[in-house]
Amino acid sequence: MRTYRFLQELSPDEQDRLRALSGEFLERKEFHGTQGLEVTDAMALAIAAQACLPLLYLDPQELPLAVQAWYGDFVGIVLHPDEVLADREAMDEAGVVHRYQEVLSGEAMEQGPVMVNWHDVARADDTAQEGYNVVIHEFAHKLDMRNGQIDGCPALPRGFLGTRGLAAARAHWLGILNPAYEAFREQVIIAERFGGEIPWMDAYGAESLPEFFAVACEAYFVQRERFTSEFPALSSLFDAFFRPAQPSHA
Ligand SMILES: [Zn+2]
Repeated sequence: MRTYRFLQELSPDEQDRLRALSGEFLERKEFHGTQGLEVTDAMALAIAAQACLPLLYLDPQELPLAVQAWYGDFVGIVLHPDEVLADREAMDEAGVVHRYQEVLSGEAMEQGPVMVNWHDVARADDTAQEGYNVVIHEFAHKLDMRNGQIDGCPALPRGFLGTRGLAAARAHWLGILNPAYEAFREQVIIAERFGGEIPWMDAYGAESLPEFFAVACEAYFVQRERFTSEFPALSSLFDAFFRPAQPSHA
């Protein structure tokens, strides 16, 4: 928490919650370094704390059960020293298979491990200014995947924002996320093709709706003020999901 300003800003109560979640996370996850990278306790803790930040107020309320509820489908965390080149294959409309390489700063696989690179994790305090955070990005994908669909919509609680039924809740979520994504995508295209103003948030969010969700989560958790001024409707939506009003105990 001393390393990252966005964790220092948490209240003492929130820091206690984050400690409980991180302890549970470290107990249940296994870290593997690649290319000779030795994962120290401090490195594992840095990743645990950032991975658990989105869980602070998520159900179930009995911490630290949220770790299993949301991140229970995998054990391994693979840590590369730096970004990696991944071999990719894609077929175009003509049926031609193209092989290419993609630079990855991290990856989250359904029912599989999460990969991040230490270079980016180590400078997460600096890059928070740009709203960038590789750990939160990959774990946001895990939240998105939890309901079996990778669509930019995490598993929403019953009655989310007064909706009736899960389909209505999802429609409400996407009804706010999608227009924000379309507008952002247009801004990125104008910036890249016509020299328009480069958007503040990571342009990678223009890739697809799930990537937009993950990129928006990064910005929301490490640079909330700026994020809220850029995406007010989305910020309120995220507040409703990530910081639901605490139920009063009967
Ligand atoms: Zn992603």
